[in-house]
Amino acid sequence: MPDGLVRSASLSIDGPVILVHGGAWDIPNTATEDHRDGLKTAVAAGRRSLESGESAVDVAADVVAAMESHGAFDAGRGAMLNQDGRAQLDAGIMDGSSLDYGSVMAVERLADPIRVARRLMDAGEGQVRILAGEGAERFAVAEGFTLIDNDELISERERERFEALRGQVDDVHTSQSFLPGVTNRRSGGGHDTVGCVVRDENGHVAAATSTGGTPFKPAGRVGDSPLPGSGFYADGEAAVSCTGWGEAIAAVVLAHDVVRRILDHGDLESAVTSRLRAMHDRIRNPHGEGARGGLIALSESAVGWAYTTPRMARAIWAPGPGTVHLQLS
Ligand code: ASP
Repeated sequence: MPDGLVRSASLSIDGPVILVHGGAWDIPNTATEDHRDGLKTAVAAGRRSLESGESAVDVAADVVAAMESHGAFDAGRGAMLNQDGRAQLDAGIMDGSSLDYGSVMAVERLADPIRVARRLMDAGEGQVRILAGEGAERFAVAEGFTLIDNDELISERERERFEALRGQVDDVHTSQSFLPGVTNRRSGGGHDTVGCVVRDENGHVAAATSTGGTPFKPAGRVGDSPLPGSGFYADGEAAVSCTGWGEAIAAVVLAHDVVRRILDHGDLESAVTSRLRAMHDRIRNPHGEGARGGLIALSESAVGWAYTTPRMARAIWAPGPGTVHLQLS
């Protein structure tokens, strides 16, 4: 696919809707079945909670939690491993009505980090909204979550990917060629983060994103996914969840950039394409390639997506017959 080409689409939907993504990258044919199944499972979970009257933010948490436990994605169980061979997870969620958000980052012992991030939103006005590492895990325990062993998050697929990447470098800590964006390139461009945006029947919107980060990232590295404004954002009627090269997404604060554009100019598809292209044109990796990624978005009356990668896994559901769309290309 030509460097810089943005693929995008939008649909007019002004009632309740769930839009899910399972990462934007060069998804191999061997993984498409699993991705489809993961998207279906996520949509089914979201649909159940939307139909039982849950708010947008609770539906978003249910959708992302379903993907974290599915195993097909770089989130929760099945997350990519860091240079220490451990799964280190990041997740964030935001309510567009109140601007409340919650995030956890670099956690190693939580099965559903998005649920802990969701719980942080309930801490009360003016309270802590972002917790990292052991502090986040302590908060989770205090809130009744059970800590798991890091091994329970590690799949055979990711153990093998880790071993293959480890074999490619002599000194992982000093090699500049293993900066996260470059690692993605060598390993086939894995951007397998998950996310969703939801509009409920009251017109409230929410965004949520969860990831294991980039393959073979240094321990402690945090990308865009748990940063409000970068990997996710929701304000008023607009919501966005991103995936892709986290260092670039954070540099342009992509989710907020797109939400602002939607709120100021109204046209969802031009907002998603223009901001993704702007990131591509502004941020280059050491090989001179523009930053790649993908995102899903909601405006007052539309849903849409855009990506600069070969594929993006995504699905939409809205009430009424025949409204589930699953797409990988
Ligand atoms: N954006 C994520 C990160 O950089 C990676 C991804 O989207 O898969 O951590």
